[in-house]
Amino acid sequence: MNVSGCYDNMESIPTLGGVVKGAGRMFYLINPKENLYENVDDVPNLYVQSWPYFFTFMLLEHIVLKLKGKKGVRLNDGITSISNGIFLEGGRLIWRGAEAYLYTWVHTHFRLVDLPWDHTSTWLFAALGVDFCYYWMHRACHEIHILWAQHQVHHTSEDFNMGVGIRQSILQGWCGFLCYVPLALAIPPAQFVLHHQFSYLYMFWIHTESIKTLGPLEYILNTPSHHRIHHGSNPYCIDVNYGGVLIIWDKLFGTFRPEKEGDKIVYGLIYNQPSFNPLHLQTFYTGYVVSRFRGYDNWVHKLRAVFSRPSWNPVNAVRFKDMAEDPAIHTRIKYDVILPRWCSVYLLTHYALILYGFHHLFTIHLTMPPLTVFTLVLYIMGSLTVFGMILDASPRAPAFEMTRCTLIVLLAYFLDPSYGVIDAPLQLFYLASGLFWFVFVYKTVEIKSVKQGI
Ligand SMILES: [Zn+2]
Ligand SMILES: [Zn+2]
Repeated sequence: MNVSGCYDNMESIPTLGGVVKGAGRMFYLINPKENLYENVDDVPNLYVQSWPYFFTFMLLEHIVLKLKGKKGVRLNDGITSISNGIFLEGGRLIWRGAEAYLYTWVHTHFRLVDLPWDHTSTWLFAALGVDFCYYWMHRACHEIHILWAQHQVHHTSEDFNMGVGIRQSILQGWCGFLCYVPLALAIPPAQFVLHHQFSYLYMFWIHTESIKTLGPLEYILNTPSHHRIHHGSNPYCIDVNYGGVLIIWDKLFGTFRPEKEGDKIVYGLIYNQPSFNPLHLQTFYTGYVVSRFRGYDNWVHKLRAVFSRPSWNPVNAVRFKDMAEDPAIHTRIKYDVILPRWCSVYLLTHYALILYGFHHLFTIHLTMPPLTVFTLVLYIMGSLTVFGMILDASPRAPAFEMTRCTLIVLLAYFLDPSYGVIDAPLQLFYLASGLFWFVFVYKTVEIKSVKQGI
């Protein structure tokens, strides 16, 4: 998929009209006539174009929560959400729109009808079709253990804020892809790619506690209120409100539960594994599924451990939603690690550099050989993992951070200078940072941190 066109837009100064349209996209407020595309390659990469809106919305939410006297977005939890979002985007750089190619192949060879790509009715039909399939994809992600192993990343935060909207599994795009394939029998690929993105953007802002209710819109749309219930780990919150943009699918298929006054929602996983390390959050549950698979001798049990619902086991058929609520869940203390101020400043500085580096890579990746893109994506994911280790105050973090800072300087010597990955002053900065951590590693100085909730 050619996504270079959108970067021209990214680099140019946005107009007021462009900003209003960009903000409207976050709420699916779009003029269909201005968003009709014939080819997949013509569809702009709205995920990437929307990162400035993600950050602006998150900042606004933080300010609103603070004004309401609440704690706001925690730095460590917010960084973890953004890191997982970059894992997802990094994965997209590696597989270069392969899902769209697969969808196009099915549409080319097996379509049943030829819908006109430039007609508003096709646009509306595509919007409805994508949202209907999103419901089933999301439901499958909660009811099939191996799919849940990926989707659970989205449910790992103990907070509920817009950052959670971008906290996704690297494999999320692939997880329920089969659920979307039937659309290829009718809906043109460009329409699918477009609405798949709109759906994802809409799902961002409904992750918030700063909006209580949207009045009559609650009957039709998925709203922050409905989605708060979906993210709870209390039994009454399990397996409900799977909808994407519309909540009507849950009402039709019996999985709707409204938020009620006095509901005390405890966010996070039932069996919580709190961490700020994105690699751990992305992988630990898959490791658990593999261990369950290997733990059975019987092949029926092995397959059920992978493809049945997460609560399945051979001796107990009770679903999580039917279990009695554990009162201890309400006294669960949120996982938190308080780092010294210098460490937070260091982390934010290096995090900003990696964010800029990722933006730069996104801009020029089509001019690079795939192996170079793969190496740099791996470096960025490795960096985010080390930042997570620092946020977790892992004793191994200093050695990893020292290695990470040295590695980018070495990498710079092997890369084409025209890529502008890291210039001389930055190399010096990274070397100084590596030296700084050398002191921590070999003088055994510890980061004085305070952990709680584990
Ligand atoms: Zn979910
Ligand atoms: Zn969500």
